[in-house]
Amino acid sequence: MLEIKNLQVKLEEEDKQILKGVDLKVGAGEVHAIMGPNGSGKSTLSYVLSGRDGYEVTGGEATLDGEDLLDLEPEERAALGLFLAFQYPVEIPGVGNMTFLRTAVNAQRKAKGEDEMSAADFLKFIRERAKALKIDADMLKRPVNVGFSGGEKKRNEILQMAVLEPKMCILDETDSGLDVDAMKLVAEGVNALRTEGRGFLVITHYQRLLDHIKPDVVHIMSNGKIVKTGGPELALEVENNGYAEFLDTEEA
Ligand code: ADP
Ligand code: MG
Ligand code: MG
Repeated sequence: MLEIKNLQVKLEEEDKQILKGVDLKVGAGEVHAIMGPNGSGKSTLSYVLSGRDGYEVTGGEATLDGEDLLDLEPEERAALGLFLAFQYPVEIPGVGNMTFLRTAVNAQRKAKGEDEMSAADFLKFIRERAKALKIDADMLKRPVNVGFSGGEKKRNEILQMAVLEPKMCILDETDSGLDVDAMKLVAEGVNALRTEGRGFLVITHYQRLLDHIKPDVVHIMSNGKIVKTGGPELALEVENNGYAEFLDTEEA
């Protein structure tokens, strides 16, 4: 499903190579975790996959179901079924969460050549999804992320995933600010949305998140490359011994 081959990325503004040949394949129904020390390039990988400005791909490729992602606009990537969890962390005063989600869903349907959902149908749909995830319907009425607590933002992110029904979800759980409760929310959301047809790439600095998610495959990234791939036991190894034994210290 998601296939990354020898991906090389540098900063646009500076002559600094950040990804130095990343290879990764996430199949349908699989949950992969990427771990690694700070500065190893984990977030850069998720930014490049999402189409964020400021990075230049200098080699390699990334495809979703065989479609080249790297030449597409962010919204075209979303229409193909790619979801980036930090895609909408911004606060949008004056725009109700429900309106926002409906706009996102309808934009996606339009891109796929499907009819838009009516307000009434969408209301029914989103209430069902929110209920299934035990998300309070009040959150739907509030402006997007405005004044949301960290936990509420996480819940909202999961709700976005549940309504957009992506094929491939990439969650970059950045190094800071994920307390145990927020971590559990993310894990519950991922577990609830885990299906045969959907893949997950969960990026995390911390092993703790993986106590709750149980990945099929764990990758360790260091110095812009995947330096080790294994099963869930790899995460435990990191917890016990740290990253030192995996580090790639070679200068490129
Ligand atoms: P991680 O998520 O693994 O902590 P990042 O992808 O955030 O790693 O960063 C990888 C490296 O690239 C770091 O050395 C970081 O300082 C550098 N980097 C990433 N983005 C930028 C940027 N926009 N400007 C300057 N340096 C950057
Ligand atoms: Mg970092
Ligand atoms: Mg990061």
